[in-house]
Amino acid sequence: MKRVLITGAAGFLGSHLCDRFIKEGHYVIGMDNLITGDLKNIEHLFKLEQFEFYHHDVTKFVHVPGKLDYILHFASPASPIDYLKIPIQTLKVGALGTHNLLGLAKEKKARFMIASTSEVYGDPLVHPQTEEYYGNVNTIGPRGVYDEAKRFQESITMAYHRFHGLDTRIVRIFNTYGPRMRLNDGRVIPAFMGQALRGEDLTVFGDGSQTRSFCYVDDEIEGIYRLLMSDYTLPMNIGNPHEITIKAFAEEVIKLTGTDQKIVYKPLPKDDPMQRQPDISKAKEMLGWEPQVGREEGMRKTFEYFKTLSREDLEKTEHRDFTGHNRK
Ligand code: UDP
Repeated sequence: MKRVLITGAAGFLGSHLCDRFIKEGHYVIGMDNLITGDLKNIEHLFKLEQFEFYHHDVTKFVHVPGKLDYILHFASPASPIDYLKIPIQTLKVGALGTHNLLGLAKEKKARFMIASTSEVYGDPLVHPQTEEYYGNVNTIGPRGVYDEAKRFQESITMAYHRFHGLDTRIVRIFNTYGPRMRLNDGRVIPAFMGQALRGEDLTVFGDGSQTRSFCYVDDEIEGIYRLLMSDYTLPMNIGNPHEITIKAFAEEVIKLTGTDQKIVYKPLPKDDPMQRQPDISKAKEMLGWEPQVGREEGMRKTFEYFKTLSREDLEKTEHRDFTGHNRK
């Protein structure tokens, strides 16, 4: 039995990772400051002897007694609406939080993994994106707080790997969806699901010609798990290469939800990437991994989840500030 620390444990990916490690028979310590996470995502784990939870902010010194075999740093706001609302925390969790956890990993001689992102490629000029592409990122735009924190996170992780010989993994996660996504996080799938369930029209930003490639959460977790267990220490893309325009995607959602809403167009947020598709050759070759769940099946399961939310949850939506000039 390994002892695993998962930060961001009450979040979307963090909670699915807790489930996976528990299923594999490991002991899981979940950590979260609950700014964007929700204890509902892990309340089923509290009764287990294999699980404990620390309500802690990783930007402060992190102390965990006992041995640790793996540390997975998945704590971070991860949607554009969150970076606009809490830009400083977004920078701090990627920078200071990662530094604290690297120090902990060094002390415990634990293997360390960071959740990086396709955002390190910014609005990419190379398509599809291979791990060798350096990216096209606006440091000072509204998304810069996330993108640069994640880029710094990769740099400091590689520095600990090279300088201290720490055993590290870097996963670059592309758009992922599934049950436990936060309904009001502003991302396109929860936004469309909420709109469908409330009987509102679907808001497509820009003309909807921008593309994304959506990976179902079970596939994403499988890829992350395999990467952690591999001996590959450079960044690796884990995502679904099946690309679609946002407009075509909105049409698919209308068909899936069987409602009669229309599409309405809103301004494109600043620095919204025009295209995004992972090149997953490395993951295929080195991990024997590729996504198994098609969008139709994945979206059906996701819709089933959103249908279980209460009316009260459905009404708690937030609207996106398109200017990026947010202030408290
Ligand atoms: N989007 C949209 N309508 C919405 C929310 C998002 O058209 O209600 C678009 C957004 O502009 C972007 C894409 O959907 O082009 C994916 O946005 P999301 O915030 O999910 O993630 P991103 O990949 O931009 O980080």
